[in-house]
Amino acid sequence: MSISALYRHSLTLLLPNHCFLCDEPCSESLCTPCLQALPALTSCCSTCALPLASDGLCGECQRQKPSFDGCICPYSYQEQIPALINQFKHQRHIALGKLLAQTLAVKLRATQAADELASSVLVPVPMHWRGLLSRGFNQAEVIAQELSKRLNLPLARAIRKKANTRHQQNLKRKQRLNNSRNLFVARTETAKKRILLVDDVMTTGATAEAISAVLKQAGAEQVIVVALARTPKNR
Ligand SMILES: [Zn+2]
Ligand SMILES: [Zn+2]
Repeated sequence: MSISALYRHSLTLLLPNHCFLCDEPCSESLCTPCLQALPALTSCCSTCALPLASDGLCGECQRQKPSFDGCICPYSYQEQIPALINQFKHQRHIALGKLLAQTLAVKLRATQAADELASSVLVPVPMHWRGLLSRGFNQAEVIAQELSKRLNLPLARAIRKKANTRHQQNLKRKQRLNNSRNLFVARTETAKKRILLVDDVMTTGATAEAISAVLKQAGAEQVIVVALARTPKNR
């Protein structure tokens, strides 16, 4: 065995994980170089985080202000991100989801006023019980739990989903918006609270809009959508 192979072998024994992307031995699901090379979301809409050439309001948000007040995502949904999130959601790679959630926690610390962040409540986007039964876990709740741990914030399962909508992905934005209305109900008191609504990916904003409207009706003061990644277009 060569010295480098021996070195790799001993690292493998010490660090039982391998980077999901480059297969190097490391202590986390991704090595530091791979984690740092992921596509960060930089210039984007100040309300819905749609990637833009420069910071400002996107056309959609200019036409109609959404029910949520902002959206924070560390990554743009491109390059390696779709595969990583797919691995987390559909292959039960929970550690990977938690690692990406840690980057979201860092971004929240960097972008939110400390006192505002400290008074926030985490609300995960719910799954219908039928979907939960087939997947076995709610990815938004895994992210919310990690954020709760890292940021020391309370988590409230404040929203219930009334029907199963598994095939939303194939619908156009307008159909999604129509489908999402009346889908969610508030479960617990969120009045006068600042809500961080947690999801895995911010796509059309239809789900975020529907839930934010319910939360605002229930008296929430502010709703900020927080997700791992934002799609480049309102698909
Ligand atoms: Zn790597
Ligand atoms: Zn926007």
